[in-house]
Amino acid sequence: MTFDSAAFSDEVIRVFRENRLDALLDGDKTACLSAFAARLVETNEKFNLTAVTDPKEIAFKHFADCAALIPLLPRKGKILDVGCGAGFPSVVLAILRPDLSVTALDATEKKVRFVSECASSLGLANLSTAVGRAETLAAPGNALRESFDAVTARAVAPLRILSELCLPFVSVGGVFLAMKGQAAERETEEAKTAIPMLGGKLREIVSGTLSDGGTETVTRAVAVVDKIRHTPPEYPRAYARIVKKPL
Ligand code: SAH
Repeated sequence: MTFDSAAFSDEVIRVFRENRLDALLDGDKTACLSAFAARLVETNEKFNLTAVTDPKEIAFKHFADCAALIPLLPRKGKILDVGCGAGFPSVVLAILRPDLSVTALDATEKKVRFVSECASSLGLANLSTAVGRAETLAAPGNALRESFDAVTARAVAPLRILSELCLPFVSVGGVFLAMKGQAAERETEEAKTAIPMLGGKLREIVSGTLSDGGTETVTRAVAVVDKIRHTPPEYPRAYARIVKKPL
């Protein structure tokens, strides 16, 4: 399939405008998002990176959805995206916020390789990658532990489990942003013991509706968790344990 970059750029501008996100764009950023989408579509034909492959859906369900996180991010600093997959939200954030230094982490090497190749080919000097399991890379003694101003995750695990994978990476004073859908309230309730045990404190759930301008809407809710104390050294535990006995 040939990718129509001009049509894709127009679609990004339209859907961002529809959701009042267009102030985040300029010509270079729109072109960069379009180049990223082209690589995503092309690479997805070789191996499965994402179920969302229609260019219109990429603009809406991937790009606008991830861009909606931007107002919640710190003004500058180091961001980690846990379970980045094909680069959501990490690549979108790196493109739209050149002032941030973004690290994209995933356990699957081929996904991380894709993100890393995108960083070079799109000239994103502020995007780097890490391959490995979050619970291993966040363990005491690892350089990544408690070293990020913000940690994001989209579509990785229920909040109760996700908190143990993500909060250990956040510096005290930083924030964990869990991108959730309609289940945000329930997942937050289920995580109410886990979050304080890991040094976090739920600040709020910020929710909104994104529209494609036609009939489709999606609910996006972000659980905003402040890191107020160090994570005790016994966390994160091994993954089997995290899942079997969630905090
Ligand atoms: N955030 C992306 C991908 C979601 S799919 C998006 O929204 O499109 C979930 C991803 O999380 C997968 O790529 C999987 O490899 C990764 N993942 C799940 N558990 C993980 C763990 N413990 N450590 C690192 N990556 C993990």
